[in-house]
Amino acid sequence: MIVSKFGGTSVADADAIHRLAAIMAGRAEERPLVVVSAMAGITDALLALASVVHGGSRDELETAIGELIGRHEAVAMSLADGEMAMATVRADAEALLASLTAAAGRRLRPPELDYLVGHGELWSSRLVAAAMAGAGLRAAWVDIRPIMVTDDRFGRATPCGHLINTRARDCLEPLLDEGIIPVTQGFIGATPDAVPTTLGRGGSDFTAALLGAALGAARVEIWTDVDGLMTADPRIVPTARTLSAASYDEAAELATFGAKVLHPATAMPLVREGIPIVVLNSRRPELAGTIIEPAAELERMGDSPIRFISSKRGITVINVRAPRMLGTYGFLRAMFEVFERHEVVVDVLASGEVSVSLTVEDRSRLEPVIRELSDLGEVWTEDRRAIVSVVGIGLRTTPGLASRIFRAVPPANVEVISQGASAINMTFVVREDDGPDVVRRLHQEFFGD
Ligand code: ADP
Ligand code: ASP
Ligand code: MG
Repeated sequence: MIVSKFGGTSVADADAIHRLAAIMAGRAEERPLVVVSAMAGITDALLALASVVHGGSRDELETAIGELIGRHEAVAMSLADGEMAMATVRADAEALLASLTAAAGRRLRPPELDYLVGHGELWSSRLVAAAMAGAGLRAAWVDIRPIMVTDDRFGRATPCGHLINTRARDCLEPLLDEGIIPVTQGFIGATPDAVPTTLGRGGSDFTAALLGAALGAARVEIWTDVDGLMTADPRIVPTARTLSAASYDEAAELATFGAKVLHPATAMPLVREGIPIVVLNSRRPELAGTIIEPAAELERMGDSPIRFISSKRGITVINVRAPRMLGTYGFLRAMFEVFERHEVVVDVLASGEVSVSLTVEDRSRLEPVIRELSDLGEVWTEDRRAIVSVVGIGLRTTPGLASRIFRAVPPANVEVISQGASAINMTFVVREDDGPDVVRRLHQEFFGD
């Protein structure tokens, strides 16, 4: 079997959904399972409803939900079974409106927020199932929530691997055995008590990987709006090139340091079985895309020792200076315990003689972290920063590479430099506004355009 996951832009409108159905028609013999994201922009729009709820106006809420339904309706009109799909979508929207109205005037609680933002996937998958049926495929809409069991960390829930494996096999294999193509949702799950959860933004890729691992897929396809993993974000570097192959490590590195094309956890469930991931462009399905697998033959990109350059905005640097503590043991542990207690993820770390700098992306719980770090030493932060990461094979062993990297950065200033033990990446921090230019200059230096 195979898993084919379609991202937001690949289900954004009627044309995109028809393209999806045509792609799947070409794969019907491979026992496919289809996983879809919400239509592009819908998850953001649902999230924005939270402040409409807080504002307290039922009319505004009704209008906003009406607009979202309108976008789905426009697609449904072009589908043979569209009206049937819309009946369910409308019923869902009614229930959603009722529950949001009951919360009017206050902030939504985390479980309510997850229930709200998960609707994009519930709706898009109805339309996709209808489009596939219209294209003559035997498709069946499946609610993933009872299968995708997670803990109750709403907004970024952790899937329960074993339960998912058993339930995916029990619920999905009989359908596949009958020649039916299940169409289900990425991103969403539920606790064992059936309270809806989400896996975090961009989480549909992760869903596809979890289901691929559970069902022993021959490959997991990630259909998106670019030709594959590229040497840089094509929105920043229009001349970026597509990598024909990448290793799991590279893909994880690329994703962790900013490339939105793949959720950072995607490779994780697939490593043990060595299941390949293929990143493909749903507008140009004839292209081979990028294959990500353990034994990837990593081609050199022309003469460049570098494979790709990524960047991530919205970063805060935290500096801790503790002349008394450094060089004594226990200091780093005490510091990391603070981050652990508040569940704040640290991305990049650089340590000097008497100071440590690290970066975090999530500012929401920073205040108590900084307060507690202040017990260890002097603490100051710098926000509006970007991480730039240069990834290449043998980055550490190729003489002169670091100087080429840092020659390309000015006039931007480099703030925190780190090279992980993996020896495939060199990461540093610049001001957020300088990020795109630095990426372009590095691309020019290493790829000549
Ligand atoms: P989807 O909705 O299909 O999940 P995303 O928007 O999450 O798609 O990810 C695709 C986007 O990732 C592309 O449009 C591209 O701008 C961005 N991206 C960033 N870095 C890279 C990269 N190195 N290679 C390919 N795409 C990248
Ligand atoms: N729709 C969700 C998001 O926008 C999940 C995904 O697209 O992967 O984050
Ligand atoms: Mg995505």
